[in-house]
Amino acid sequence: MQNFPGVGVSPGRVIGTVKQMPKPISEPPAGEQLPAGTTAEEATAALKAASQAVHDDLKARAAHATGDGKAVLEATALMAKDTMLIKGAAKLVARGTSAERAIWESGSSVSEMLHNLGGYMAERATDVLDVRARIVAELRGVPAPGIPASNTPFVLVAEDLAPADTATLDPNKVLALVTAGGGPQSHTAIIARSLGLPAVVAAVGVDKLPDGTEVYVDGAAGNVTADPDESLRAAAEAWAATASLLAEFSGTGATADGHLVPLLANVGGGKDAGAAAALGAQGVGLFRTEFCFLERDTEPSVEEQAAAYKSVFDAFPGKKVVLRTLDAGADKPLPFLTDSTEPNPALGVRGYRTDFTTPGVLDRQLEAIALAEKQSEADVWVMAPMISTAEEAARFASMCADAGIKTPGVMVEVPSAALTAEAILREVSFASLGTNDLTQYAMAADRQLGPLANLNTPWQPAVLRLVGLTVEGSRAEGNNKPVGVCGEAAADPALAVVLTGLGVSTLSMTARSLAAVAAVLKTVTLEEAQQLAKLALSAPSATEARAWVREKLPVLEELGL
Ligand code: PEP
Ligand code: MG
Repeated sequence: MQNFPGVGVSPGRVIGTVKQMPKPISEPPAGEQLPAGTTAEEATAALKAASQAVHDDLKARAAHATGDGKAVLEATALMAKDTMLIKGAAKLVARGTSAERAIWESGSSVSEMLHNLGGYMAERATDVLDVRARIVAELRGVPAPGIPASNTPFVLVAEDLAPADTATLDPNKVLALVTAGGGPQSHTAIIARSLGLPAVVAAVGVDKLPDGTEVYVDGAAGNVTADPDESLRAAAEAWAATASLLAEFSGTGATADGHLVPLLANVGGGKDAGAAAALGAQGVGLFRTEFCFLERDTEPSVEEQAAAYKSVFDAFPGKKVVLRTLDAGADKPLPFLTDSTEPNPALGVRGYRTDFTTPGVLDRQLEAIALAEKQSEADVWVMAPMISTAEEAARFASMCADAGIKTPGVMVEVPSAALTAEAILREVSFASLGTNDLTQYAMAADRQLGPLANLNTPWQPAVLRLVGLTVEGSRAEGNNKPVGVCGEAAADPALAVVLTGLGVSTLSMTARSLAAVAAVLKTVTLEEAQQLAKLALSAPSATEARAWVREKLPVLEELGL
C-alpha cells in the first residue's frame, strides 16, 4: 500500500480505480511546418479523420448524458465538423502549415469571429476552442482534454477542477475526486461537496498514479491509499452503510437545547435550488448569481436575469433567499465584466469592485432582482461580494434602495470588513461571512494552491478570530444585525458547531451537507458550542484547533464524518 496524504474536503470512504484527467493541450509552435515526407493531402486527410473522430466521440458521450451536460456535448460535437473551421485549416495546410498548427490557427479565427458577432454566437466561441484542443489531441494521439469518458464508475484524479468541468462531470460515474493541487476552498472542494462525492485535495503525487490503479479515498481524514488492504475495504463498506443514515434532514437546524440555527443552502441556479428544497434546506443563504452566466461573453438582459433569479426564488416561497450580486473575477472570470490580463486577479477588480470599471451592470442586475422579487413569494435579501469598507456598504445599500430592494447586506470576506464590521453593519441589514475568501485573504494564501492547503483552512485561529470580531460588531449597541456564514466552513460539521458557538445566526452550505451538520449540531448545547469555540480560538494552530474540537465530538467518528 502506498499512502498519499492530502486535505479531506468532502467526507466519505470509497474504493475505486483511478482515471487521470488529461493534461491541457499545449499550443503547437507558431510557424510549425508539415513534417518532411508528409504531403498536404495526407495532412488534410488526417485532419478530417481527427475532426470526425472527435465528433463521433462527443456524439456518443452526449447519448449517455442528460440535461445541461448533454446540450453542451451536442453543441461541441457539431462544432467539431464545422465547415469554416476545417476549410480554414485545410487552406493553411495547403500552404505548408502543419495540421496541428493549422487547426489551432483556424480555431482562433473562427472563435474570434463568433465572439465579434455577439449574443448566442459569442457563446459558441469557447466551444470552438474546446474542439480545436480535442482535434489536436487526436492528431497527437494523446487523451482528449476534459473529464475522461468511462462506462464504469471511477475515481477522478486531476491537478484541479474548474467550475466549467461540472457540466460534463457525471456524479453517477465518479466515485470520488482527488487532486494533486487545489486547496480546501478551491472549486474542486465546492464541486465535490455539492455533488456529495468524497474528495481529497493537495494529495501530492497522486497525478503520477497510472490509470486503473485501485485506490481507497477517505474524504474526512484526507487520505488516498493505493492498493488498499482488507481493513480499508472493510472501512469503505462500513461507510456505505452509514452514508444512508446521513441522507435525511428533518428541516430544522438546532442545538440540543433548542437554540435555532437555520440551515440554508448555497445554490448556483434554479436546478440546485429545487434539489436543495427537496433536501430540506430552510432557505437559501447564498445564491451565487455568477454561476448562471459563467459561459457568457455578453451581459445577460434584465429579463433573462430576472427569469434565472425567479427560478431560485420560486423554489422557496415564503422563505429567505439571500442572493449575491455577480462575484466575477479571480477564480470565476466573466468575460463581460473582468479583465483576464490582471496580474493579480484575487486582489483585483472582482465582485462589487467591477462596478468601478464597468458601471451599469450592477444597476441592471439590481433592477432584474427587484423584477423577479415582485413576481415571486420568496423573502429576498441581496448582498454584495468583496465589500471592504463602510463607504462601499453605504453605497451598495443606497443602490439597493434606488432599485426598490428592501434588505441589503454584504459579504464579509475581506479582513478589513471583519475588522470594521460594526461600522459596515450600521449601513446594511445583514452580513454573511464568506470564509473561503476570508481565509485566503487573512492568511495571504491563494485558495486554489495545493501547497498552501495547510495555511488555507478556516480552522486557523486567526480566521476564527475574524469571525468572532464580525459577530461582536453586529451586536454593538443599537446594531443587532444578523450574521450568517456561507463559506465552505459551514459545511464542516465540527466547524459548524464552533461557528454556532462564536454566535453566527445561520449556516449556509451545499445542500448535501445539511443532514451531517444538523446531526452533529443537535448533539451539543449552545453553551457547549461556546466552549468549543473558546477551545478552538485558544489553539496554537489550525491543526490543533481541529483536532481538539473533533476529540470532544465523538459523534463525528460514529458517523464517519
Ligand atoms: C466565500 O468566499 O466564502 C464565498 C462563499 O464565496 P465564493 O466561494 O463564491 O468566493
Ligand atoms: Mg468569496
